[in-house]
Amino acid sequence: MTDTAYDFDLFVIGAGSGGVRASRIAAGYGARVAVAEEYRIGGTCVIRGCVPKKLLVYGSHFAEELQDAANYGWTVEKMTFDWPTLRNAVAKDVDRLNTAYTNTLDNNKVEHFLERATITGPHGIRLASGRELTAKVILVATGAWPVVPEFEGAEHAITSNEVFDLETLPKRVVIAGAGYIALEFAGIFNALGSHVTVVNRSETILRGYDAALRDRLLQITMARGIEYKFNCGIERVEKQADGSLHVFMKGQDDPIHADTLLVATGRRPKTDGLGLENADIALGEHGEIKVDDEARTSCPSIYAVGDVTNRVQLTPVAIREGQAFADRVFGGKTASVHYDCIPSAVFSQPPLASVGLTEAQAREKFGSNVKVYTSDFRPMKNVFAHRPERGLYKLVVDAQTDRVLGAHLIGPEAPEVLQAVAIAVKAGLTKADFDATVALHPSMAEELVLMR
Ligand code: NDP
Repeated sequence: MTDTAYDFDLFVIGAGSGGVRASRIAAGYGARVAVAEEYRIGGTCVIRGCVPKKLLVYGSHFAEELQDAANYGWTVEKMTFDWPTLRNAVAKDVDRLNTAYTNTLDNNKVEHFLERATITGPHGIRLASGRELTAKVILVATGAWPVVPEFEGAEHAITSNEVFDLETLPKRVVIAGAGYIALEFAGIFNALGSHVTVVNRSETILRGYDAALRDRLLQITMARGIEYKFNCGIERVEKQADGSLHVFMKGQDDPIHADTLLVATGRRPKTDGLGLENADIALGEHGEIKVDDEARTSCPSIYAVGDVTNRVQLTPVAIREGQAFADRVFGGKTASVHYDCIPSAVFSQPPLASVGLTEAQAREKFGSNVKVYTSDFRPMKNVFAHRPERGLYKLVVDAQTDRVLGAHLIGPEAPEVLQAVAIAVKAGLTKADFDATVALHPSMAEELVLMR
């Protein structure tokens, strides 16, 4: 399999979720593999995304637990929170994972270069140090990068890249955008005691999720003190002498006073300066690398996986794409990635999670042949803690076949519950199958089999 005409059989650019998986699987098949990473091995998910974010969610969630603890008989005196302690502990865990990922590459005999790599031709790579290398196959797995809209003073804003390193916990945070990152950090900062204002260009939060869940999240988070300003764009930001910010919105005279402005308005495929033009690699309208069903770009020896292809910007999808690529190209297998029924979750507070068709999508596809079942319930834990927040579970069913087309949950631990439901939805089970399953009592998840 190895071709000594090249320095490597596979050269991967980007050691994130997709790149690391592809590298180690290809090496396992006997390929001579190298990977270049300009920042830290692990990529967005491990270094400045899913993992540190989830740890901050856990950390901030103690606020709710501690508030509710009194109803369960606990006396918690002098409750205080120290941001540097949490921040540093999270950073330490990221270091641990960075080492673990690096060890994985070493153990699989994948050579790694901690520097930027660019493409010089269909088989050519140049490292930042000037070294020229060749590979039979190149895989681009460079991920995506936060987009910051243009406005005066944008340099005073931070993105999700910087949010994990804040010196101090801001008292007032303005968050631009109302997607995944915006609402997850709105929940974190709100729970930690910051005043949070979410500003968004439309009046839709979490576009693509079921409307009932989005509405429920909005109600609960507003009751928790998060302020929303919709149909609103940032005009300019002025930094004050004391370091605070005045965020001016279009059409409004009075600025919002803030300590931190977090911009979370989407992420764009990271292709700038990669040298893609040297191999005639075609890009799509959002700057994504265009690939076919087998992850091949318009250059036959160059492939791409993960966020840089802008298909589904989720870690597990990038991992599957990396695995399938390596299985196909170096393992001689027929492997493909299925993009239907991909579960997703927003780790807002409360979290929401979803798989399959929303009610609106199902109605568009099946017209009136759609049945919707909902359970609008107050989790036992909340009742006991005098917390008024209600959960909402929703099943969308094809009335003709009884097949469950989608499941949408908001409430405590919704992502944990949803992962299991996703198996049923992906397997094409019917509402009758759900009904035939005996409830597990007392749990929140039992609502899924009790909807009539
Ligand atoms: P999202 O696409 O989720 O949300 C972007 C938000 O910014 C929307 O509210 C959108 O408004 C608004 N917006 C988009 N463009 C502009 C613009 N030019 N000016 C002003 N506002 C704009 O992006 P995120 O940055 O939150 O996250 C990026 C991706 O990362 C997600 O799509 C997701 O795939 C992934 N991710 C996944 C997570 C998870 O699985 N839990 C967590 C974090 C990220 P509107 O909708 O009105 O157009």
